[in-house]
Amino acid sequence: MGELETLLMHPKKPFAFVTYRSEESAQKAYVHLNGQKLQCGENSVTLYLSYVHSVTCEEEASVSLPEGLTLVEDFVSQDEEDLLLAAVDWSSTNDDVSAQKSLKHRKVKHYGFEFRYDTNNVDKDKPLASGIPQECLPVLERCVKKAHINILPDQLTVNQYESGQGIPPHVDTHSAFEDTLLSLSLGARTVMEFRHPDGHLVPVVLPPRSLLVMKGESRYLWTHGITPRKYDMVPACDPQSPALKTAEVGTPSNLTLRKRGTRTSFTFRKIRHKPCDCAFPSACDSQGATPPPPLLPCSHADAALLEEEYVHRVYDAIASHFSSTRHSPWPRVCHFLTSLPAGSVLADVGCGNGKYLGVNPDVISVGCDRSSALVHICAERGFQAFVSDALSVPLRTASCDACISIAVIHHFSTQDRRLAAVRELVRLLKPGGRALIYVWAFEQEYKKQRSKYLKDQNKEGSDVHSPTKNTSEESQEPHGKSSRHLEDDNRPVNKIQDDSKVTDGKLSVHTNRTAFNTQDLLVPWHLKEGKRRGEVEPVETGRKDKMKDDSKKTSGKSCPTTSKDSKPIPSIGTTQSSTVKPKSESDSSPAPVFHRYYHVFQQGELEQLCGQVAGVEVQSSYHDQGNWCVILEKAGTL
Ligand SMILES: [Zn+2]
Repeated sequence: MGELETLLMHPKKPFAFVTYRSEESAQKAYVHLNGQKLQCGENSVTLYLSYVHSVTCEEEASVSLPEGLTLVEDFVSQDEEDLLLAAVDWSSTNDDVSAQKSLKHRKVKHYGFEFRYDTNNVDKDKPLASGIPQECLPVLERCVKKAHINILPDQLTVNQYESGQGIPPHVDTHSAFEDTLLSLSLGARTVMEFRHPDGHLVPVVLPPRSLLVMKGESRYLWTHGITPRKYDMVPACDPQSPALKTAEVGTPSNLTLRKRGTRTSFTFRKIRHKPCDCAFPSACDSQGATPPPPLLPCSHADAALLEEEYVHRVYDAIASHFSSTRHSPWPRVCHFLTSLPAGSVLADVGCGNGKYLGVNPDVISVGCDRSSALVHICAERGFQAFVSDALSVPLRTASCDACISIAVIHHFSTQDRRLAAVRELVRLLKPGGRALIYVWAFEQEYKKQRSKYLKDQNKEGSDVHSPTKNTSEESQEPHGKSSRHLEDDNRPVNKIQDDSKVTDGKLSVHTNRTAFNTQDLLVPWHLKEGKRRGEVEPVETGRKDKMKDDSKKTSGKSCPTTSKDSKPIPSIGTTQSSTVKPKSESDSSPAPVFHRYYHVFQQGELEQLCGQVAGVEVQSSYHDQGNWCVILEKAGTL
């Protein structure tokens, strides 16, 4: 409101200064905004304006860069910048030449060697056909000449960040790369955040054509990342001119907002062939450390990043292995599906491998999932499915007679997002339509009472299944490889970051098959050897055949009442005798362990969540297979 000239914010102050182009503009803003309520997420904030004559701008309080970090401005010329940007052909899809991945939060291209996001390492024995582009050589030679490096890098990762995209805080894997990392920033300016394990944060403004040299402590100990934002808070020296004069660094005294453009970074690294023996063992994978768990998200952007990394990416990577463990539909879900009248339209939001899509052949079923790898499996099985985020399903409002959301909403990492997921399901329903929601229950102990509960249910004749059957969210994990599984479960990381310990906002790693001690956690998935995505065709044939068998099994009308792959949860004690498997540095492709984020629901929480959605009623709720479940009905009739 009004024609804004500048915005000036004092760090950690609840007020800000704005200047307007004219007195009229300022007046207009005052009239329209003073005393108005603004909605900030769940909180509403009242905005108060008052006039001031002048705004003082304090001197820049320079904060030193992390140890070992150097920023060299104008390291390349504008001509070189153009040349380098032109050297990257984003349209090429030839994965033999360079590995290109479209991650949700940025575009990535690798040269020399592919950096694999599933193992957080490189295949050192499998160099890519294309090395570092020729155009980079003059720049690298300059790096040698200026003594930033003494050996030429052999790996290049090009990241392209559109406005609003970012990269989670991370330390480049020690065992993958040698000490010095070079990052050349091209295109738009951005802010990179360096964080010491003690929490100390140093935002570093990266101007275009600058070179960031990370050595020693800044390379080995500090994390660096870019928060996905459309605007950056950057230092403002002169309130009349919010543009930066130089590359300021550190925590400034006055801040303003700057719109982000597209930034392309060239990160040059040297592949490491021997274990790292750095002086920072706490962050060194060669010396037994594992990356620290992520923090519980505080904002929508953090939550989206967390889910990208700890849900979407994981499901894409484990899709075929995951699918091979998910062939037994849960009886009560089947009951819901078979109760639908013939000709009903059903949406399975978060359909996974499509195990429910064929349960009732008399309904028109369509599935969607955030994982394209899982959707691909659905398609192979002959089901209708498409890739979609559960917060924004591209289906018409009120187009479905029924929706199911089975083991999906517990993957959203904030209350707001879980609520939005329920809202989206309800939006899809026709008036009178019903939705069935399953989320993983915090109360896994509930089972002991459940058997009685189920017997009572059985007396009423509603559902028939064995109380000893155990097909909760996790119990369908394969058990055949249990020795490896148990070994991995006993790795020191799970002990140290055991979820019984309350950590300062850090997510804890759950020990599989034990009671939950916290509601927000990371659940390990031990990828079976040979099931990794991208691991080539020989495995594929056998798997497809198996898949056909599975689809036959699940596409029939009948719902299995017993499951051959179900097993009781082993007691905690069974994991104690196994030995810790030392992580072998020479092992070029260890079976990776993935971590999926979960918010496990406490009793009543799901009903309460659904109760916040207008125009819908909780018809029934129950505990089933270690899950909390509700059936919702949308108000009104057709
Ligand atoms: Zn190290």
